Amino acid sequence: MMPLADNHKISNSFLEINIDSIVHNYQLINTKVGNTECAAVLKADAYGMGASVIAKALDKAGCSTFFVATIDEGIELRACFSKNENKIVVLSGLLEGSEDIFYDNNLTPVLNDIEQIKKWYIYNRQKKISAPSILHIDTGMNRLGLTISELHDITKKPAELKGLHVGWIMSHLACGDQPLDIMNKRQLSVFLNAKEKFPHVKASLANSAGVFLGKSYHLDMVRPGIALYGSGSSSIDSNPLKQVIKLYSRILQIRTLSRGASIGYGASYRASKATRVATVGLGYADGYLRSLSNHSWTFFNGVRLPVIGRVSMDYITIDITKIASEKIKTGDFIEIISDKFTLDDLATVANTVPHELLTRLGTRHHRIYRNTDNISK
Ligand SMILES: *Cc1c(COP(=O)(O)O)cnc(C)c1O
Repeated sequence: MMPLADNHKISNSFLEINIDSIVHNYQLINTKVGNTECAAVLKADAYGMGASVIAKALDKAGCSTFFVATIDEGIELRACFSKNENKIVVLSGLLEGSEDIFYDNNLTPVLNDIEQIKKWYIYNRQKKISAPSILHIDTGMNRLGLTISELHDITKKPAELKGLHVGWIMSHLACGDQPLDIMNKRQLSVFLNAKEKFPHVKASLANSAGVFLGKSYHLDMVRPGIALYGSGSSSIDSNPLKQVIKLYSRILQIRTLSRGASIGYGASYRASKATRVATVGLGYADGYLRSLSNHSWTFFNGVRLPVIGRVSMDYITIDITKIASEKIKTGDFIEIISDKFTLDDLATVANTVPHELLTRLGTRHHRIYRNTDNISK
């Protein structure tokens, strides 16, 4: 339970990332989707978990298509692989003047509008190449991608597309995490209609949640991100995915509040009786959202301990009155995220998605990667 056993670095908090569990989750999805390709979304430094380590582990597990958000993430990811065959797709699109960077780093742009299509087409013609791209079709997210009427326009003028190597089309679900939402079926049907205009292209629609919506959503490739970390199955039955991260933080000081004393910024909590309080070494700068003030739980040896007072930048304060004073001391580790209180549990309490919690964890936790033996070098 205590992470100190194999690590002596003195640190306020430890973040354990279990690589075997990530690989297990990837393989579980890969099996679930059958012949459909299973890509991996590693944007935002693999949701803050470390793109380079995770990319190598997934590469070894057989993954060969990786999505990132920005061109810089793409360049960094390219440097992680010893072989050049892995496909790296940049979701944010082909920014003005970035054509050479895409080509030189062997990155695949997602083409989000007609201008980007034309730019990539002209670039390919000038260089006499046929570099791949993915055409993004907006089926209701209204964020990025060609609208359906723009799609009609360009397919009516096939000359504009002739010579452009459109190997793939993609779209993105707005409500995948709500399986019963009518929006899912609607987007699928709009996307399948659009696909008819491109008889030979492959198609991708599903994020993690889409994987669990069923076979009709899988098409030729699924793009899970958060499911790699154990969330997003949205299944009413038990979650088949494994938990990946554990977060522990150290008790820095223990004190007893007398009745009526307040704690922390804004004096937002007042003790109604004598209360033993532990100050724990993580705060909103470490991704423990300030909105969790007076409104969350931590665990110690199976006992649930409430967060009291405001979350500050570097500390939280928890009520440890329930634990006998000889059983807990300064330096002990409190479980912030664990099998008892998972990433999804904390996200629910914080009224957010696990994606946000993960990407905000920041750089101050001492990171321990477990089971890294299998990573390809
Ligand atoms: C982030 C993202 C994904 C992955 O979403 P998850 O919910 O993490 O599985 C897939 N496709 C696109 C276009 C995305 O932006």
